[in-house]
Amino acid sequence: MDMLSHALWGYAALRSRGPRSARWGALTGAAPDLLYAAGSLTERLIRDGTSHLEQTFGTAAYYRKDGPPMPQELIDYYNHFYVYSHSLVLLGAVALAWWALRLRPPWLLIPYALHIFMDIPTHERYQTPFLFPLSRWTIEGYAWGRPAMFLANWALLLLTYQVLYWLYWRRGTPARKAPWPEEVTGIG
Ligand SMILES: [Zn+2]
Repeated sequence: MDMLSHALWGYAALRSRGPRSARWGALTGAAPDLLYAAGSLTERLIRDGTSHLEQTFGTAAYYRKDGPPMPQELIDYYNHFYVYSHSLVLLGAVALAWWALRLRPPWLLIPYALHIFMDIPTHERYQTPFLFPLSRWTIEGYAWGRPAMFLANWALLLLTYQVLYWLYWRRGTPARKAPWPEEVTGIG
């Protein structure tokens, strides 16, 4: 899925905990791809300086079976970064450590997990090995760049934000009496 959708879903996923949690949720929702891009960018900057930076980012068509071939370099980045930042196993380990250290549920990792769950069925190539490093098993999905998937995603986003609007933003929304959950237990 595109990074903007991931961020918007991340925001929506944590909105019921409060506005600040939701803003952080947008960031952690996009984080698997941000980490992947940051890793790729750093590696390329160290090696080549600022030339050819545009090749660091792929396009939606790469994830379609009938799309243009992904350059070898991006495949390398996929193997070096994507498989780590899109692993439910590694995320689970981080979540357990977080919970153990802070003694509360790692709310901010929910948008992160949602990101991985959305990538699994929406890549036809360069699929999401969510069990890495235990297994490289993947599922062939239906690419998010295909019109049907793209439109379905944005239609669902629109619907979701319509609900958020009715709940929180429309004029005349009654003032909130109870504190937001984030004010009671913290953001993450
Ligand atoms: Zn992703």
